[in-house]
Amino acid sequence: MIERSLVLLKPDAVQRGLIGEIIARFERTGLKIVGLKMVWINKDFAIKHYPETLIPIVGKKTLDDWKEMGIETDKTAEQLGAQIHKDLLEFTTEAPIVAMVLEGVHAVLIIRKIVGHTSPHKAEPGTIRGDYSPISMGYATQRGFGGRNLIHASGNVKEAEHEIALWFKPGELFKYSSVHDAHVQ
Ligand code: ADP
Ligand code: MG
Repeated sequence: MIERSLVLLKPDAVQRGLIGEIIARFERTGLKIVGLKMVWINKDFAIKHYPETLIPIVGKKTLDDWKEMGIETDKTAEQLGAQIHKDLLEFTTEAPIVAMVLEGVHAVLIIRKIVGHTSPHKAEPGTIRGDYSPISMGYATQRGFGGRNLIHASGNVKEAEHEIALWFKPGELFKYSSVHDAHVQ
């Protein structure tokens, strides 16, 4: 049950000076940082992380969101998804990202809870997105910019394995003991 997960502090977190604040939240839970670096990715790399298969999925989610918010549109899920994907590639390449791999018991699920809902307006207070991001994804898409929700965290263990291999070389990940190990063994 000890898992690893990829966490990215997106350009908005870096530009807003929230790197330390966000990393501290993970450290205080006892999750172990086993890899950490700053990278400025280009669009070719961004597409590997956010492949075009995301287009219909985010498009459908946005249509549902907009319906809930009473926003009318004649765009299809595919059209909206394509716009969101383009905005997302712009956003994730506009400044550096801090990438890290965190390890711990049920790390993937625990990290998703600390991060909060994808759309900050639905993220609970106490979560990173709920506490620091004052927008909604629906608003961002309607205004034509990437949904700045500060952070990425792998959605499940399989996604985590794939994403960690994409962002980190094996030699950039470390095994060491932390004070928390004694409490989870
Ligand atoms: P999460 O980051 O919570 O795992 P997804 O995997 O569904 O969310 O989406 C990946 C990223 O795409 C989000 O973090 C966000 O930056 C962007 N995104 C997702 N849905 C939308 C949306 N409806 N409108 C704008 N951007 C979105
Ligand atoms: Mg995701």
